Amino acid sequence: MTNKYMYFIANWKMFGGLNSLNSLHKVVKFFKNFKNNKFSKIIYCPPNTLIRPMSKKLKFTNIEVGAQNCHENLSYGAFTGSVNSKMLKSVGAKYVIIGHSENRQEGETNKLINLKIKSALNSNLKVIFCIGETQKEKRKKITKQILNKQLSLGLHKIRNKKNIIIAYEPVWSIGTGLIPKSKQLFETISFIKNKNKSLKVLYGGSVNPKNIDQLKSISNIDGYLIGGASQDSKKFIDIIKKTYN
Ligand code: PEP
Repeated sequence: MTNKYMYFIANWKMFGGLNSLNSLHKVVKFFKNFKNNKFSKIIYCPPNTLIRPMSKKLKFTNIEVGAQNCHENLSYGAFTGSVNSKMLKSVGAKYVIIGHSENRQEGETNKLINLKIKSALNSNLKVIFCIGETQKEKRKKITKQILNKQLSLGLHKIRNKKNIIIAYEPVWSIGTGLIPKSKQLFETISFIKNKNKSLKVLYGGSVNPKNIDQLKSISNIDGYLIGGASQDSKKFIDIIKKTYN
């Protein structure tokens, strides 16, 4: 049982068409009547193509919408295939995920992530800043060094961090069904919090209705970034309900 304010962030990745929005009504109905809805926040981060219709659909609800990435340039430009933070804001996004490991694997550097975070904050978007070590880095026992580097370079020269939420997502845990051992996860979250006092720190990586009982017992986690399980309304609702049971 928790009585802490908790975030439940759904990362739909590159999944979902217009018909996927039909699945939202179950979550909307559930959350409207949920007794702990004052102590929790749901944020959906769909593909860019769904931000506008999803925002319209969720307009009179207590659920918010975010994007999954943005370009670092604040003005329009010749960047084929890209969308900047202002454009995302203009279609209804209030948040943006930045530094997801799937984008880091495509070549996104800490320096570029820092520019993206600055541009998002400039556009008045709140940032969900992802950090996490790979399996190889974990084996080499350099997790803390990696997180330290990602945090210091990613947040370089950003003084006001009140609109930033950290999501600790071990790369080896995303989509694999594996989660860190509880003691280890508690220690890693504490390490991140000690570096960034007052910042909320979420956990992400294979969160599902089966492992939520274990995860919710880790007292310093402020919520979850949920990929696969968030595309299934029933699983997503189960995760939220079980967090408070
Ligand atoms: C993610 O991609 O942010 C994520 C946590 O995915 P999954 O829950 O599917 O591991």
